[in-house]
Amino acid sequence: MGNVLVVGAGGVSSVAVHKMAMNPDIFGPIHLASRTKSKCDAIAASVKARFGAEVTTHALDAMDVAATVALIRQTGAEIVVNLALPYQDLVLMDACLEAGVNYLDTANYEPEDEAKFEYSWQWAYQEKFREAGLTAILGSGFDPGVTSVFATWLRKHKLKTIRQIDVLDANGGDNGQAFATNFNPEINLREVLAEARHWEGGEWKTSPAMTHKVEFDFPGVGPKNMYLMYHEELESLSTHFPEIERARFWMTFGDAYITHAKVLENVGMTRIDPVMHDGKEIIPIQFLKTLLPDPSDLGELTKGKACIGDIATGEAADGSGEKTFYIYNICDHEECYAEVGSQAVAYTTGVPAMIGAAMVLKGIWREPGVWNMEQLDPDAFMDMLNTQGLPWQVEELDGPVAF
Ligand code: NDP
Repeated sequence: MGNVLVVGAGGVSSVAVHKMAMNPDIFGPIHLASRTKSKCDAIAASVKARFGAEVTTHALDAMDVAATVALIRQTGAEIVVNLALPYQDLVLMDACLEAGVNYLDTANYEPEDEAKFEYSWQWAYQEKFREAGLTAILGSGFDPGVTSVFATWLRKHKLKTIRQIDVLDANGGDNGQAFATNFNPEINLREVLAEARHWEGGEWKTSPAMTHKVEFDFPGVGPKNMYLMYHEELESLSTHFPEIERARFWMTFGDAYITHAKVLENVGMTRIDPVMHDGKEIIPIQFLKTLLPDPSDLGELTKGKACIGDIATGEAADGSGEKTFYIYNICDHEECYAEVGSQAVAYTTGVPAMIGAAMVLKGIWREPGVWNMEQLDPDAFMDMLNTQGLPWQVEELDGPVAF
C-alpha cells in the first residue's frame, strides 16, 4: 500500500480519489489537500458513503512551497498527485524535490499570465529528479496520457515505427447547458482559442484557431465535426519518437460551443490580463469562470459517450509493409456518474491519474527522472485501463487517414 497526497479538489481529483479508494491494495492512506478545504471534505464524504473508505483532508495553497513541503512530511506521502491547475506544476515539483517524494500531473506547466504551454520548463527538472532518485510522471490524464501510452503500445506490439499519428478526441455528451466546458473553463478556453499547431516534416505548421474542420464517424459516438488544434502531447511525441513525420490533434465541438467561444473572445471575456472594473482589477477569464457552470456539477446532467484514441500509420512489426491502426476507448457519461458521481471527461482524466500513481507505487514506473508517458513501458498501464473502467479496442484500418 502506498501513501498518497492528492492536491486539488476539482472534477478530475474527485474521480482519481474515488478510484484510489476502490483500490485499497495499492493506495492508502489517502490524503487530499486543496485551496478550499470544503471541496476536499465533500469528496471525502462521497468516498466514505460509496466505499466506506477514509480520506484525510487538508487546506493548502500549493503556491506556498514551504507549506506543501511541511504537509508532505506530515502525511508521509510517497507521491504527490497534482490535480490542481497547470500553474502549480513547477512549485509542486519543487516541493517534491525538497521533501524527497515522487510527482505526477495531468497537464503541462503554463504561466498564469501568458497563454503559452510547453514542456521546456518541466523537462529542465530532469537532472534534479534523477540525482534525487525520484520519479516525476508528466501528463497522466487521457490526452495527454493514455493517448501517448496508446502510441507506445502500438509501437511496441504492432508497428516498428510511427510515420504519422492523429489523436482524435470526441465528446458526444450532452449536458443540456447553453455553454459549459467539461473541465476547468479557464484552462479549457485558453487551450481551445490558441492558434492551431501540428507537427509536419520536421517543423510546426500553424493555422488560426478552429479553422480546419473535418467530419469523422467516431465509434460509439457517430459522425461529429472535429477541429485541428494544438495539444501538448504533440510536442512530447514528436520529441520522443523522432521518426514521426506528421502528428496532429483533433477535438470535436458543436456549432453552438464554437459560436459562444468566439463571441466571448471577441468581447474580451477570455482575456487573461487584468482590466480595471469599477475601480477594481479583474481578470476577465477568471470572472467568466465564476459565471459558467462548474464542470464537476455536470455529471448528473450529461448523457452520451466520449471516444478518444489514436490513428497511427507506420511499418508493421511483422515486416508486412505499412499498416494503420486505430486504438480507442469509448466512455459512457452516465456509467461514470453511476460509479463515481462524475461525467466522462473528468473520469477519463482521473482514472489514468490514479493508474499512473499506481505504476509508481507498485515500482513499475520508478526510473529516477522526469518522464512523459510515451517514454515508459505501456503494458501494465494498458492492463489496468481494462480493469479500472477504461477498456480499449484496437482495429486495423484499410490505409492511412484520408483527411
Ligand atoms: P478544477 O478547476 O475543477 O479543479 C482544480 C482544483 O485545484 C480546485 O479544487 C482548485 O481549488 C485547486 N487549486 C487551484 N489552485 C490551487 C492552489 N494554488 N493550491 C491548491 N489548490 C489549488 O479543474 P479540473 O479538475 O477540471 O482539472 C484539473 C487538472 O486536470 C487541470 O490541470 C487540467 O488541465 C487537467 N486536465 C487534464 C486532462 C487530460 O486528459 N490530461 C483533461 C482535463 C483536465 P479551488 O476550488 O479553491 O479553486
